[in-house]
Amino acid sequence: MSKGKHTTCIHTGEIKDTQFGGAISPIFMASSYPYMDTEKVRYPRYFNTPNQEVIAKKIAALENAEAGLPFASGIAAISTTLFAFLKQGDHVVFQNEIYGGAYNLVQEEFENFGIDYSFTKGIEPSDFEEKITNKTKVIYLETPSNPLLTITDIKAVAELGKKHKLITIIDNTFASPINQTPLDFGIDISIHSATKYLGGHSDILAGAVAGSEAHIHKIFNKGKNLGGNISDFMCYLLERSIKTLGIRVEKHNDNAQIVAEFLEQSKFVKKVYYPGLKNHPNHDIAKAQMSGYGGMLSFELIDNLDAKAFQKALKLIKPSMSLAGVESTILMPTLTSHALLSEKERKKQGIDDSLLRLSVGIENVEDIIEDLSQAFKI
Ligand SMILES: *Cc1c(COP(=O)(O)O)cnc(C)c1O
Repeated sequence: MSKGKHTTCIHTGEIKDTQFGGAISPIFMASSYPYMDTEKVRYPRYFNTPNQEVIAKKIAALENAEAGLPFASGIAAISTTLFAFLKQGDHVVFQNEIYGGAYNLVQEEFENFGIDYSFTKGIEPSDFEEKITNKTKVIYLETPSNPLLTITDIKAVAELGKKHKLITIIDNTFASPINQTPLDFGIDISIHSATKYLGGHSDILAGAVAGSEAHIHKIFNKGKNLGGNISDFMCYLLERSIKTLGIRVEKHNDNAQIVAEFLEQSKFVKKVYYPGLKNHPNHDIAKAQMSGYGGMLSFELIDNLDAKAFQKALKLIKPSMSLAGVESTILMPTLTSHALLSEKERKKQGIDDSLLRLSVGIENVEDIIEDLSQAFKI
């Protein structure tokens, strides 16, 4: 019988301490294991040290998948997965808005490997379908997206993948497996930057993948060659973090909803992007595929407020490149993640200097709102 999510977060995959009976999984740092008279030859690059297996089991259980694999970073998980299913001459369809690091991977590396790609023009299923060619092998999506929190219809894209016999891959980082389990809607492979919600304390770089046994085996084979493996110490930290994933994400959800509603009625704010708001263009789809709307939101300041000065005036909320920690952080995409795009390209994506992305933490929500309120009055 499958357990509830909080129980899974705490217990699934844990290693019994048979020596001392301690309450937590011991850390096994060995990189050297026997090869004779053993059912399994363990080696860290084979993804099968005891602590790596804890994370593999946890991520599989949380994503309702047969199997999982941990990686040293989100990008290691993404690159290894893409290269596991794409070879020279193949084509892949990417959603228009994907994480900047994934975009760079595609732009800077794929041509060298002879892999062709297209980005969709929008997030409608028809936008994906029109890019499919007879060389296409993979569809890659990301929902909610960064930074505008667009919502792609997971089930519709999964069905499109099945219709054309393609592998569907989702970046599920923003939702976390607490809010969204894409395999339940027919997606083949779900990927996380575990640096974000799974880690949650801004002190881990890690990634994770979940899917069927067969798909994970393919990714495992590629991963052995590419070597983006995670250390046992990081697995220990990640296991510790995931124990509180469920309660953290529930609090992120609650706080972000309240902050989004506060911003929506503020006279200092032009527009709020949050899938939990009823006026979000795809709120209904979000409602159907998410059990919570997450801790990420974006908003545009009114024209006579300067976003840089506003960020400097914040006291509790810190400007940060990363996201999804217990602490609230803010980022201005035009200065950071989208700095390298041309003005025209940014405009096309709907990103300008008034836009701020807020990672709503789990502080007392009235303190977050108080901080925003005092900074509006600069
Ligand atoms: C951070 C992030 C990544 C990349 O993960 P790293 O752990 O930094 O390698 C991928 N996708 C999304 C949505 C992210 O936020």
